Amino acid sequence: MSVLFACQGTPIADSPTPTATPATQETFGTAQLTPAAYPDKELSASPAQLPKLPYADNALEKAIDAETMKLHHDRHHATYVENLNEALQKHPQLKNRSVEAMLRDLNSIPEDIRESVRNNGGGHLNHTIFWQIMSPTGGGQPTGEIAQQINQTFGSFDAFKKQFNEAGGDRFGSGWVWLVRNAQNQLQIVNTANQDSPIMEGLYPIMGNDVWEHAYYLRYQNRRAEYLNNWWNVVNWSQINRRVQAVSQQKS
Ligand code: MN
Repeated sequence: MSVLFACQGTPIADSPTPTATPATQETFGTAQLTPAAYPDKELSASPAQLPKLPYADNALEKAIDAETMKLHHDRHHATYVENLNEALQKHPQLKNRSVEAMLRDLNSIPEDIRESVRNNGGGHLNHTIFWQIMSPTGGGQPTGEIAQQINQTFGSFDAFKKQFNEAGGDRFGSGWVWLVRNAQNQLQIVNTANQDSPIMEGLYPIMGNDVWEHAYYLRYQNRRAEYLNNWWNVVNWSQINRRVQAVSQQKS
């Protein structure tokens, strides 16, 4: 993973320790880690299941064509799920762990399936986040807490967008560009290769864009920058705010 932009600022105020740990949250020692797949739920591996798209294939035409959405969800994401389940057949005891738990501790995964869990578990997690943080009614200026944190950290929404798009353009080959919260409670833009998840590095993914060619090639061909630019028209700020709230309640 290359960290492209580290910044000062946006320490999020300490939240009171929750009195009870929801059953869906994983406990690592005393630290409670926020589920990454959803604001309140981790990704099951018993078995992993393809989530439904929360809108129609043609709902995001402002940025992504229907054919791309269909292939991306029904074929690409489905294949990550199938391949993850197939790998876990070899070590069925792992199915009791969430996908997040496996990715946070890849060294604990038997070597014969470690790479498969990394790629297919990562692919399943990354796409599950991706579908949620887009919406047909998305786009426009950020709202709420995330708007404030972006301004504090990057100066303005335009400056943030520019850095995010550059980080997405700089990822050679296939990968993702992310806005994450790091261990120091700061926002940071990073990109990752292939299907690597920021949680492998202890970073919490707040939002991310897929820069694999399969995400944009039908409409944009080699024009990744144009795709990155149009993608802001479908960004679901209310869902992103739910993710920000979830992670700010995490005891770190
Ligand atoms: Mn993809």
